[in-house]
Amino acid sequence: MSKVIQVKDLKFAVSYSEEQIQAEVKRVAAEINRDYAGQEPVFLAVLNGSFIFAADLLREVTLPCEVSFVRLASYQGVSTTGEIREVIGLNMDITGRPVIILEDIVDTGLTMAHMIDTLKRHNPGSIDICTLLLKPGKLQVDLDIRYCCLQIPNDFIVGYGLDYDGYGRNTKEIYTLVN
Ligand code: 5GP
Repeated sequence: MSKVIQVKDLKFAVSYSEEQIQAEVKRVAAEINRDYAGQEPVFLAVLNGSFIFAADLLREVTLPCEVSFVRLASYQGVSTTGEIREVIGLNMDITGRPVIILEDIVDTGLTMAHMIDTLKRHNPGSIDICTLLLKPGKLQVDLDIRYCCLQIPNDFIVGYGLDYDGYGRNTKEIYTLVN
């Protein structure tokens, strides 16, 4: 029987072990080290969910690089679309720089699509997405995801930085909701 944990009112069963996750993180870091050789990328880790992934991945990156932690904030403003989304916490100039976004999970892809639109206004040299998890079955937008550790089914997951109602982030494994 796989390990089951309780997070608030829900039960989750382990889906990916610490060893599996670490092996995938190391694989992706090696790809980045190879692809970005000779460059000095800026990593933008999207809070809150990517904090553990970013900490593990970045310790495997051997390139000279900078790291910044950002958030995507939504607020109602005076615009035709109604919603304005802004990247907050970007406290450095990314003009002309190669940018790698570190995200916890791409589900519909809408969050990443907004993020890329917003970052493009800062005129980076290039933008790549690096996600810990991807649910290919849920993707709604045309998104070029260059780096992905694990492709997962359409279930709700927690752990290794991802939460359920604020809880469950502090595990070494990734867990799936038990129905
Ligand atoms: P998207 O815009 O791609 O639909 O959603 C991305 C965001 O939704 C992620 O950054 C994450 O916060 C949240 N999300 C999507 N699926 C899951 C999931 O299975 N578990 C958790 N904890 N968050 C998820």
